[in-house]
Amino acid sequence: MSNKQVAVFYGDDASPEVMQPTVDLLRSMNLGIDFIEPLVGQAAKEATGTLFPDAAKAQIDAADATFFGSTSGDSTPVLFYLRWGKQTFANVRPCTYVPGFNSPMANPTGIDFAIIRENLEDLYLGLEGDTQDLAGLNLYSRHARANLSDLGPGKYAIKAITEQGSQRVIRYAFELARQRSKQKKVTVTCKYNMLAVTDGLFLELAKQIAQEYPDIAFEHFIIDDFLCRMITDPHALDVVVMPNLYGDIMSDGAAGLIGGLGLAPSGCYGEDYAYFESAHGTAPDIAGKNIINPTATVLSAAMLLEYLGKDEAARLLKGAIGAVYANQEHLTADQGGRASTSEFFNALRAKLQGALANN
Ligand code: ATP
Repeated sequence: MSNKQVAVFYGDDASPEVMQPTVDLLRSMNLGIDFIEPLVGQAAKEATGTLFPDAAKAQIDAADATFFGSTSGDSTPVLFYLRWGKQTFANVRPCTYVPGFNSPMANPTGIDFAIIRENLEDLYLGLEGDTQDLAGLNLYSRHARANLSDLGPGKYAIKAITEQGSQRVIRYAFELARQRSKQKKVTVTCKYNMLAVTDGLFLELAKQIAQEYPDIAFEHFIIDDFLCRMITDPHALDVVVMPNLYGDIMSDGAAGLIGGLGLAPSGCYGEDYAYFESAHGTAPDIAGKNIINPTATVLSAAMLLEYLGKDEAARLLKGAIGAVYANQEHLTADQGGRASTSEFFNALRAKLQGALANN
């Protein structure tokens, strides 16, 4: 069987501090995966005159998936390509408590749900500008009871919810609920009272699709009500699907429930491609300090392995993370520990080797 190909981007600020050792760890597992490192960013600009050369694009296309370190700078065009170029419409952000995570909840055991964030539209299309540019459109606000152009100088952003974009991510959520063998429930949330047209469409489509899945329970809440429920009764959730902006915000909140952003993995799936990156950003405030928590990145790598059909390796990797947290001796500062990033990796490597030896 030929090797799987994974394109790797190490990212910016503190990202390489967790990406590089994670890739080293995966390489050491001899999984039949080639990790390819396309040349992008400043180095690519110097060599080819462009930040994101066609050759790098071709390497992404040829790979089975991409493992992506969070970006804040020159590799941002790569992220846009991975999203809109590869049409990775479903951003899956699991929120699963592992014993030993430094959760602020009194009873975090058993918290295990997944937020599915629509990844390509809503307010993230980059359609922004000056309100005065829309004056000719004579846009009347039924809430403010005024034309947009009469409200004075300002900016606008367009929120677009399409039928196809919503249907495919909602269907993805129902399919995931079937696979997860948990509660078999899909929760839909958005602001369908105030945004009756856009979010109203998202809810309406969800109701229609729910009828195709009689084996999956279905419920819906307005996003503010949902947030309260997510905090007070997270155990009741299984798969939750929502438009882009809400998903971005709620998934950080969900990470907070189990112990913080350092613990939250993420995978973005399209029809025929996927990329994986931690849910958190580049953590610029702690870059260069060797204290960033690698858990989110390692768990994202486990999602990558599952996507590639390497379930046993994913199970071992998650098991090793569980063992590090159960032991509590090598946790990073965000988890109340004193270990450096490197010390965490040393402990993880030892647990993984122990597990591989016993396997
Ligand atoms: P983005 O908008 O790209 O998601 P952000 O503005 O949410 O980024 P993050 O980079 O996610 O910012 O960081 C938010 C805070 O969480 C920062 O204080 C950062 O140091 C902290 N943080 C993020 N990831 C980790 C991690 N893996 N380990 C420890 N702290 C982290």
